[in-house]
Amino acid sequence: MSERVAAPWANELRRAGFRDERVISAMDLPRDIFAPRGFGGWNSAALPIGHGQTISHPLTVAQMTSLLIEKNPRKVLEIGTGSGFQAAVLSRLCDEVCTVERIQALQSEAIFRFNRLEIYNIKTRYSDGTLGWPDEAPFDAIIVTACAQERPDALLAQLRPDGRLVTPLAAPDGKQYLKVYDHKGSGSDFTERTVREVRFVPLVAGNPE
Ligand code: SAH
Repeated sequence: MSERVAAPWANELRRAGFRDERVISAMDLPRDIFAPRGFGGWNSAALPIGHGQTISHPLTVAQMTSLLIEKNPRKVLEIGTGSGFQAAVLSRLCDEVCTVERIQALQSEAIFRFNRLEIYNIKTRYSDGTLGWPDEAPFDAIIVTACAQERPDALLAQLRPDGRLVTPLAAPDGKQYLKVYDHKGSGSDFTERTVREVRFVPLVAGNPE
């Protein structure tokens, strides 16, 4: 493949045992556009993007993306646009990305970045993402990039049968775990699987800022 596929962290991802080359290629985005205050690189746990928010470590973005696209979703929903990095990665793997952010300044900056990168299959919305995006539902897959305190039932209700939701979830022990919910295909039953411990900023319900 061309030079461009060698994303700054492609080799680090492979060295960490990450094998989904489709995701590694999709992550080959100019990360400096998403983190104008300077890119801390592989060794920084998470990168500040202002307003007390962060972009996740590349390995976390990679793993969550890989889980999300496993069944080739066409239309996906992201809660927590932040810098727009995760949405931009998904825009290269899915037909349509809907993303919701509760801090208006972050939403505006993300839109600016999508335009700059000439990405046109992302729809953004400024609102409380715990309610999902009813007008755009159903979705083939949903990713939450802030930590929920309880199972996000309102979001699960916006999944298509056979759909998947990937989210960090707070546990009673105070830790956060990455969870995968798979729709069982009928009724409103889901299987739940725990992937690993993670650290995210909280998912904040209520009026957006
Ligand atoms: N996915 C982002 C990183 C997300 S950081 C990226 O790639 O850069 C978590 C984001 O979730 C923050 O921007 C925060 O403002 C947002 N957030 C928190 N609670 C939210 C809610 N209820 N609805 C929408 N966004 C929320």
